Amino acid sequence: MSSQNQPLIPVEEQFKIIADTAPVLIWISGVDKLCYFFNTGWLNFTGRSMQQEVGTGWTEGVHPDDLQRCLKTYFHAFDAREEFRIEYRLKRHDGRFCWVIDHGVPRYTQDGEFAGYIGSCINIDSVLESERVKTDFISSESVKNEQALNEELASTNEELTAANEELASINMQLVSAQGKLAALNSQLEEKVLLRTAELEQSEQEQQALNEELAATNEELTAANDGLVISQEQLQNTIRELAESEHQIRSLVESAPFPIGVYKGREMRIILANQSIMDVWGKGNDVVGKLYSEILPELSNQQIYSQLDDVYTTGVPFHARNQRVDIVVDGKLQPYYFNYSFTPLYDTAGNIYGVMNTAAEVTDLVLAKQRVEQSERQLEQSLEDVHKLQRQKDGFIGIASHELKTPLTSLSAIIQVLTAKLKDSTDPFISGGLSKATAQVKKMSNLINGFLNISRLESGKILIEKQQFRLDQLLDDVIDEVQLTTQNHQISHLSRQPINVFADKEKIGSVLANLLSNAIKYSPKGRQIDVSYEVQNNIVKVAIRDEGMGIKQQDLDKLFDRYYRVESNHTRHISGFGIGLYLSAEIIKQHDGEIWAESESGVGSTFYFTLPLN
Ligand code: ADP
Repeated sequence: MSSQNQPLIPVEEQFKIIADTAPVLIWISGVDKLCYFFNTGWLNFTGRSMQQEVGTGWTEGVHPDDLQRCLKTYFHAFDAREEFRIEYRLKRHDGRFCWVIDHGVPRYTQDGEFAGYIGSCINIDSVLESERVKTDFISSESVKNEQALNEELASTNEELTAANEELASINMQLVSAQGKLAALNSQLEEKVLLRTAELEQSEQEQQALNEELAATNEELTAANDGLVISQEQLQNTIRELAESEHQIRSLVESAPFPIGVYKGREMRIILANQSIMDVWGKGNDVVGKLYSEILPELSNQQIYSQLDDVYTTGVPFHARNQRVDIVVDGKLQPYYFNYSFTPLYDTAGNIYGVMNTAAEVTDLVLAKQRVEQSERQLEQSLEDVHKLQRQKDGFIGIASHELKTPLTSLSAIIQVLTAKLKDSTDPFISGGLSKATAQVKKMSNLINGFLNISRLESGKILIEKQQFRLDQLLDDVIDEVQLTTQNHQISHLSRQPINVFADKEKIGSVLANLLSNAIKYSPKGRQIDVSYEVQNNIVKVAIRDEGMGIKQQDLDKLFDRYYRVESNHTRHISGFGIGLYLSAEIIKQHDGEIWAESESGVGSTFYFTLPLN
């Protein structure tokens, strides 16, 4: 290959080769804000082609919820020529959205003119997912890419060498033209001397001499012209090379990810951009020094042998989320990187150095470790809570069972007393006995609730279904509950008969519970309405009150075990937060649904459904 039949790779092409070996997703935009380059890492990640991504194509892969924020940050930074960092979700080739951190910096031409932006993204998910596997060799796919890139690098090298050869040959032409000029000059001098001596010779001779002189002059002028052309060519080539080298250097310089190039097996640093010098934390005077001089602390961390292996075998090396301990501010500190070591070849096909590209992921890995740590703590406390919960449930079961026995005999005694004293004229005795009956009933309902919970937990609640008239059950329960209050009026609005097949006693307890809640939580509201309607073979029962209502955020949680709304209004109302939980369990076991609608301060309506067959 020579520079005659193959044009020099444009300067950005060379940067793209570096970009393609970097373990980050890279994009480059122009002054028009549009992106015109994405590296192989990006295209492999999104599974899309360069053509699809350029311009504004890349926005199709950004999660719709993140896009506006993303563009706003980009445009804002762009107009202010500021560096920016932004997190967003980017669609991976398999359709999954992954979180990335995008770091963009403005870039400038050698004349200091703004040229657009260059950005690098780290896929957070990949860092987090593979954290456990500390080093992870990238799949054979990217090794193949590496090889292709290496070939490209080698061809770039060849081209540079060819350009050098051309320069050398131009130089040789220059030297030979100079030699020729000198020879012509001395010839001329000789001839002038000779002609002066033979001045008296014939006119013919004089004429011939003149002609010869003119010819020599012409030759001389031509040689001079050639010289001028060669010099111009030389200068142009040198200028072009210098310019492209400057441009590639400034791109590498401003790249927002670490790049370094080391030469020879001794690993002499011949290029290091600001980003890699920042990572090393050893100041900016590193070029020309040995890698081992700058980073002696890495000698026992495998990095030297990785570099040496790449240099001696030519096999690229990639590390993921690799911990590297670097001395910064005099202290050995842990950092985490994704990094690549890629061999560099000269025209003869020999390795002359190693290119190092990297992405620092320390913050991500540390964040991940913190998350894992708090997850472990959370799991531990949940475990503790569950243990307590189990102990509490066990205790409640035993205590309720023990309380039930004395309560049953108390209730029997009150019944006997009521029967014996029914003719008593003492108003205190009849009043006291009916109050005692009501209190015993309340207490036994409570204890039954707790007992039901522990039965439910141990799977001992049995649903015994039978055919019955739901409208009649409603009448019975309403009558019973109405006895407990004088401040509320319970109305049964639906009248048509309706048959259901369900556990009558348990549906009765659900109704009783919803009605007593409607009373309990409606200190000022008078009216309570009960109604039902049939639709699509399902009966829907509604219990509506004009009480304190329930806030939206509490509505879903009402049916959780032991859940009670915390507020100034509910604080003085006693309860254990198990009524709705039990009701929901019973309705669920009937394949029905239960829910509430409410407006705080206006009232609530509780609904449940039962399938009709
Ligand atoms: P308890 O009434 O014993 O606290 P429940 O499980 O029956 O337990 O009810 C749970 C919570 O739901 C109650 O603490 C109360 O905050 C709220 N709640 C239930 N019914 C109503 C209602 N009709 N109006 C307003 N809040 C209610």
